[in-house]
Amino acid sequence: MTLKFPIYLDHAATTPCDPRVVEAMLPYFTEKFGNPGSRNHQFGWQAEEAVDTARHQVASLIGADEKEIIFTSGSTESNNIAIKGAAYMYERAPAGAGKPRGHIITAIHEHKAVLDPCKRLQKEGFDVTFLEPGADGLITADMIRSALRDDTILVTIMWANNEIGTINEIRQIGALCHEHEIIFHTDATQWVGKMPTDVNRDNVDLLSMSGHKLYGPKGVGALYVRRRKPRVRLQSLVDGGGQERGFRSGTLNVTGIVGLGKAAEIALAEMESEGRRLLALRTKLENTVAGALDVVQVNGHREKRLPHITNISFGFVEGESLMMAVKEIACSSGSACTSASLEPSYVLKALGVGDELAHSSLRLSLGRWTTPEQTDYAAEAIIKSVRKLRELSPLYDMHKEGIDLSKVEWAHH
Ligand SMILES: *Cc1c(COP(=O)(O)O)cnc(C)c1O
Repeated sequence: MTLKFPIYLDHAATTPCDPRVVEAMLPYFTEKFGNPGSRNHQFGWQAEEAVDTARHQVASLIGADEKEIIFTSGSTESNNIAIKGAAYMYERAPAGAGKPRGHIITAIHEHKAVLDPCKRLQKEGFDVTFLEPGADGLITADMIRSALRDDTILVTIMWANNEIGTINEIRQIGALCHEHEIIFHTDATQWVGKMPTDVNRDNVDLLSMSGHKLYGPKGVGALYVRRRKPRVRLQSLVDGGGQERGFRSGTLNVTGIVGLGKAAEIALAEMESEGRRLLALRTKLENTVAGALDVVQVNGHREKRLPHITNISFGFVEGESLMMAVKEIACSSGSACTSASLEPSYVLKALGVGDELAHSSLRLSLGRWTTPEQTDYAAEAIIKSVRKLRELSPLYDMHKEGIDLSKVEWAHH
């Protein structure tokens, strides 16, 4: 088979829609176009039935009851509804009472869709603790335990990190939260559909997930809201028709929801074999690159990681040049383009990765249609590019000659 370029290795950013998902969605754009809120005729009933099926499919993927699934526009919205909704509902003191409205625990290397709602709550009078991970990137139950306060009302920790794939101690954190009667939310966007999930076994109260990270459509997602032990209450952020148990008013995105449901069903059926396949591909990719190049580091915990994500830093190459050199591989870099400058990834910084190594890192994330030919090609392209860039690097020459660069006295200008 001939390879097509660029090769897509950015599945942590978004996934293509599975053709089986598109097929399931199509009738709901045209002949089955009803509003599930229309209770008086066939069109409404048909749409409602489709939404019920999807609700069952999504609930099955995470071990929940159908009644606990709220459809949203994606993980950003799910996170907002969960974090702000819980904070406002469980606050300990009213705003302006001269003490914190409540205490929230999260981590500095969460996704912006968690950090920004937490920062807004901070401005509104809540105290927020942003935990710092160690070099392996993990957040443990012990870290949460040492941050607990009498007025802690919410813990929000992602299941798996989107940049490095590391997996946090969710079940233990959940158990700790339940022991202290604290609501536990997890942004599981990267985890769900890839790894076995059971909200009861794993002690999760609120869970965010997104269609377009699991081969479903963009603009649809779900929030799991626990109904018993404890029954989680949320203050609603959008008021209107009272759909989705009042947690999320607005006419349901029926086509998107049907797609999310189908994507969930496929993910559950294929999870185990697909996980093994991707792990084998990634292992070979990492071993090939690390075997051919020196001064290479894989970021984050080596074992406690999703099988399809790898984040690799390359010493003695310049970040932008590296991205340019591997143009035929569609992947992410450790640099985030902000309006004015190129900032090193805050996630890698949180792990203590230096600015230089953060800039010169690549996140490669494999997916359902990634082939061994593609990952082999990517490995060779990366090796070739890094070697070429290092030929131009006087620092790399010094390193090879055994000069300890950390001890070199640089001329300052
Ligand atoms: C992609 C992603 C989000 C945002 O999801 P949307 O559905 O695009 O809003 C949130 N959290 C994590 C961890 C993600 O990977």
